[in-house]
Amino acid sequence: MLETVNPATGEVLATFPVHGRREVEAAVDQARQAAAWWAGLDWNGRRLRLLAWKSHLTRYLGRLAQLVHEETGKPLDDARLEIILAIVHVDWAARHARKVLRPRRVHPGLAALNQAATVEYQPLGVIGVIGPWNYPVFTPVGSIAYALAAGNAVVFKPSELTPATGAWLVRSFASALEVFGDVEPVLQLITGGGSTGESLARSGVAKIAFTGSAATARKVMTAAADTLTPVLAECGGKDALLVAADADLEAAADAAAWGAMSNAGQTCIGIERVYVADSVYHSFMERLTLKVADLRPGFDGEASYGPMTLPSQPETVAKHVADALARGGRSAVGGPDAVAAPYVRPVVLTEVPEHSAAVTEETFGPTVTVTPVANLGEAVSFANAGRYGLGSAVFSRDRSAAMAAARSLRTGMTSVNSVLGFAIVPALPFGGVGESGFGRIHGADGLREFCRPKAITRQRMKPPLNLTSFGRTDKDMRRIVTLMTLLHGRLYRPRRSRLPGLAGRCFSRPRSPWRRWGRRDRRRPAGRGRR
Ligand code: NAD
Repeated sequence: MLETVNPATGEVLATFPVHGRREVEAAVDQARQAAAWWAGLDWNGRRLRLLAWKSHLTRYLGRLAQLVHEETGKPLDDARLEIILAIVHVDWAARHARKVLRPRRVHPGLAALNQAATVEYQPLGVIGVIGPWNYPVFTPVGSIAYALAAGNAVVFKPSELTPATGAWLVRSFASALEVFGDVEPVLQLITGGGSTGESLARSGVAKIAFTGSAATARKVMTAAADTLTPVLAECGGKDALLVAADADLEAAADAAAWGAMSNAGQTCIGIERVYVADSVYHSFMERLTLKVADLRPGFDGEASYGPMTLPSQPETVAKHVADALARGGRSAVGGPDAVAAPYVRPVVLTEVPEHSAAVTEETFGPTVTVTPVANLGEAVSFANAGRYGLGSAVFSRDRSAAMAAARSLRTGMTSVNSVLGFAIVPALPFGGVGESGFGRIHGADGLREFCRPKAITRQRMKPPLNLTSFGRTDKDMRRIVTLMTLLHGRLYRPRRSRLPGLAGRCFSRPRSPWRRWGRRDRRRPAGRGRR
């Protein structure tokens, strides 16, 4: 058995079984049958059931929020906000699955004009979802809702720190199905720690949607490799916030404070590093320290954020802070004494060398480093130097400079002039690069992540050229080669530039065999149509 504990008070909230290999395999077997039933429903059938689930989550938001508050220690309003985000995603996935995944015709191309070509997205079967504890509703629902909407069944293993929230989610989905008279176990719960997760990864499910640390993702991939089970990995981050000289400093400082300290910094897309243009560094620091100084951790209604949920995390935070200070960093707010488990008061560090753990590793606490840089370009290169690449933020009043910086940041997501903006837009894909993982949840990409694309061609008429038969003739081959030469044999070469030094760097549009006719068309006097 495992106990789930309120991290602020130490009170045991409930106990759950630790499921072993046999129980996990039994759940996956049951899920296979449920998956066949669920995939057999039409789009509207699944849409209505998911919307009923959304409605259940909304109506019982208060109860679920209270449970998340007690199990993670985060403030009640933060729990509410997290559930609201999950509701938005269930709604989007339910309403958009058909549009994104239904069969659609694609152009077959000139060489296959006699074929009707269709692509569609079929469900994979059973998805194993392994969740973390820091956002025990929003994070797993980002996989579960999209997997269900795509027609899959799900076996869900919540974190061993938040099994009660996971159980509540699974029960709520069953209640939504009951309204329709359905009892199939489309969404099932298994509980336990790493070994239960490993059993799920080895169980032969069609895909594992894992959210957690990069170190655990490696173990999950190793376990899944035996059965060639594909893995979607949503891992940690070391997100940077970039502040340009022309930025709205008040808004940037506010975003940095919230992005770094909310949920006690236990946010995968939380801000852990800030790079500020030299010329506004001091004004920014003044604003940031003022905002952060007012924050207070606790479990009462007035607290800014809660305790560290993972008992070992305060030690990691203390190590990163001590290492940064030992390497010549300075603390503008807080310091080593900020850590008093289970709480950590806000810490703002400056002059921290770029190779120290506080800059390179995920701290996952209410700490942030602030570093002056020459400009946005230098900020981007510092931000991109790390192993992680999950989210990022850019503050600038110059829209094109901000967008250019956003594009060059090596992260899966960037918000301009706000933090975490991308997580609120359900149509946007969510995921990282490098140590932050691969694959995407949310949006159309999130729906396709839980499907296999199926390509179908249907021959509508006899082909003009008999190419895929031993009855093929030399004439057929000559004709296809001539057609291909006309279509694809154009010459591509560097455009001659009049500017010295640029020759060879621009490329001309390809020379088309129809070019001369096009020219003649253009010379025709205005107002006269084509012949
Ligand atoms: P974790 O890696 O310790 O555990 C994640 C899950 O994996 C848990 O359910 C755990 O029981 C399970 N697990 C552990 N060992 C396993 C194994 N060998 N095989 C299979 N499953 C195993 O992570 P955590 O401490 O729960 O969560 C915090 C981490 O998650 C942070 O790094 C955070 O950044 C990351 N995270 C990422 C996202 C995202 O969307 N990218 C969202 C939330 C959290």
